[in-house]
Amino acid sequence: MIQINNLSKSFGDLRVLENISTEIKKGEVISIIGPSGCGKSTFMRCINLMEKPTAGEITIDGQNILAKKADVCRLRQKMGMVFQSFNLFSHLMIIENIMLAPLSLLKLPRQQAYEEGLRFLEMVGLGAKAMAFPDELSGGQKQRAAIARTLAMKPEIVLLDEPTSALDPTMVSEVLAVIRKLVASGMTMMIVTHEMKFARDVSSRVFYMDDKGIYEDGTPTQIFDAPQKPKTRAFIKKIS
Ligand code: ADP
Ligand code: MG
Repeated sequence: MIQINNLSKSFGDLRVLENISTEIKKGEVISIIGPSGCGKSTFMRCINLMEKPTAGEITIDGQNILAKKADVCRLRQKMGMVFQSFNLFSHLMIIENIMLAPLSLLKLPRQQAYEEGLRFLEMVGLGAKAMAFPDELSGGQKQRAAIARTLAMKPEIVLLDEPTSALDPTMVSEVLAVIRKLVASGMTMMIVTHEMKFARDVSSRVFYMDDKGIYEDGTPTQIFDAPQKPKTRAFIKKIS
């Protein structure tokens, strides 16, 4: 589904990612772990074209997304992104937040956008909050609403960057439960997370990022129980 070849990204003189090559298959759930500042967010933002890679190729469904002629808008629609901070519009009701992109980008009729939005809100357990404003919701509820907003665009892959890091500990599990539901639905996903137990449970694959790239790539059992390379071993030892 996504092919990445020799992806590099620098910010000025700072080389953050160097020559990353990998592929993501349909239905895979990939957790990205690694020390703070190693480039996890930058990697994800490059895939989603929120950052322009300095070099390399990213191909999605056979289309080179860095080509000058690429339809960036359409490609972005295939990829839903969920952030640490939920980025809901505070002056709009939850249902309006969710309908916004389907109305303006997918050009859905209002009634359809409303009905589908409500369906996604129900899926994340927030059917009763459709008419509430973001400030009336807890952090966990806001993040669940943000996930519903992402799903309303019917993405082919969902990228989540530390979706529970900004939450009170009491609210982490309700958001993880919604993400588990997404995994069970067969969605292709990439998740940057510090929730190691969760990563072990839900992922089909784990990337340990370090040294400006994917330092080690394996199944959760390989990475968590039998890491092969020294920095992965040291990291796993430190967190367990
Ligand atoms: P992680 O998500 O793994 O914590 P990031 O991808 O956020 O790491 O950051 C990787 C490195 O790139 C850090 O050194 C960070 O300071 C730097 N960086 C990230 N974004 C920018 C930016 N927009 N401008 C300059 N430096 C950046
Ligand atoms: Mg980050």
